[in-house]
Amino acid sequence: MNKKGHVLNAVLLSIGLGYVLEPSGDTVTFVKIAQISIPITLGALFPDVDTEFGRHRKTLHNLAVLGVFVAYPLVFDNLHFVWVGVLTHYILDLVGSKRGIALFYPWDEEFALPIGVATTSKYADLVTVLITIAEVLAFALVHYYVVSLDIDFTALATAFGL
Ligand SMILES: [Zn+2]
Repeated sequence: MNKKGHVLNAVLLSIGLGYVLEPSGDTVTFVKIAQISIPITLGALFPDVDTEFGRHRKTLHNLAVLGVFVAYPLVFDNLHFVWVGVLTHYILDLVGSKRGIALFYPWDEEFALPIGVATTSKYADLVTVLITIAEVLAFALVHYYVVSLDIDFTALATAFGL
């Protein structure tokens, strides 16, 4: 997927997640969207830095990199929601294009789903929007039924005595 697709995905996902995390639809929702949209968009752009540094779809397209961004808010109370952008970038590359990504890099094997459309296809934007809708639904299910994605990190740190 190209940068335009990743930004479209990140912006739409931020709006959707804003409503998932703060469903009231008033100022609180828009503040939440503002809070998460920049980190998510930056996260969604980050993996393709490996077009210049390292090997594209490998060096920054793997679970170890995602793990670092998931750990940062938990360990340093920093870079919140950037992991959402990195994760959605991987999903979009996996589902929304023909080529896969090396999830277990430095193992070179690239994984892909057989349902992708080429990044140059006229359906690329439609696929991006459909994937984003599915992601918002998945996040809502996790947020409401598994674990709150709007974690109070101060409380978490206190609980762990940090
Ligand atoms: Zn990519």
